[in-house]
Amino acid sequence: MNARLIDGKKHAASLRAQLAAQVDALAARGIHPGLAVIIVGDHPASRAYVRNKLAACAETGVRSTKIELAEQVTQRALLDEIAALNHNPAVHGILVQLPLPAHIDAQAVLEAIAPSKDVDGFHASSAGALLQGRPGFVPCTPAGVMYLLAQEGIALAGQHAVVLGRSNVVGKPLALLLLQNDATVTICHSRTKDLATEARRADILIAAVGRAGLVRAEMVKPGACVIDVGINRNAAGQLVGDVDFDAVCQVAGSITPVPGGVGPMTVAMLVANTLRAAQA
Ligand code: NAD
Repeated sequence: MNARLIDGKKHAASLRAQLAAQVDALAARGIHPGLAVIIVGDHPASRAYVRNKLAACAETGVRSTKIELAEQVTQRALLDEIAALNHNPAVHGILVQLPLPAHIDAQAVLEAIAPSKDVDGFHASSAGALLQGRPGFVPCTPAGVMYLLAQEGIALAGQHAVVLGRSNVVGKPLALLLLQNDATVTICHSRTKDLATEARRADILIAAVGRAGLVRAEMVKPGACVIDVGINRNAAGQLVGDVDFDAVCQVAGSITPVPGGVGPMTVAMLVANTLRAAQA
């Protein structure tokens, strides 16, 4: 293996320790950061994500409340729940775990969260602030990727960053953050004509697609930094990213593993956003 491993687990643990100290400092001023997590239905993956988020809150001293709603919950009941949390002064951050059942308009639900409590950064006003480079909540996964790049000393200014994926959750906000940090950014997606050629131009290659084995060694410029956001199960049922890890390790300069790369950073960033909400 040639590539340097970017250890997201280690960076996330050290960030959580710093956040725990900040929580203590806030508590001394009588402020106790609180996060409310709403989960609808019974998706095993969603349950696992929520479990990790609540564990990170517990570890850092952030108070958390889990609100479990049945799969059949009406949109009205869900909106009422959010309205109550918006008015609850003990709740500084509100997160609705996605995906939501098909009968619910997810965007309407996300827009119902008070922007001041939008710790997932999915509200249109948060997205608009990010687009314009104004202060606001940044979605946790893109924020976690930027944190990893900064901690690892990966230069961005003038570098060519290629983002595979254009979702509102990962690809688009990440592209904007890279742009804000003076990278030259290319966004690729399912209709991109020659993904391999685009990817090979990247000094920083970010895969956020959700397809195991999508990024092969020949798509990577020698020495590039490769960040794998993808979470997939391979045929053997193991958790893998979008990158053919073993092969790409022979070419890349640095690389995040899956698991243990971006995932833990996403969770730590949620705690960081909740703290910011409590400090505001
Ligand atoms: P999404 O399905 O909303 O978006 C996928 C994107 O990939 C789309 O923009 C689509 O255009 C693009 N795409 C699809 N096929 C492609 C192809 N063949 N070539 C190039 N682009 C293609 O997914 P998402 O929510 O953005 O998540 C992407 C991946 O990241 C998933 O595996 C998801 O599980 C994972 N994820 C991980 C974390 C984490 O914390 N590690 C957080 C969020 C999402």
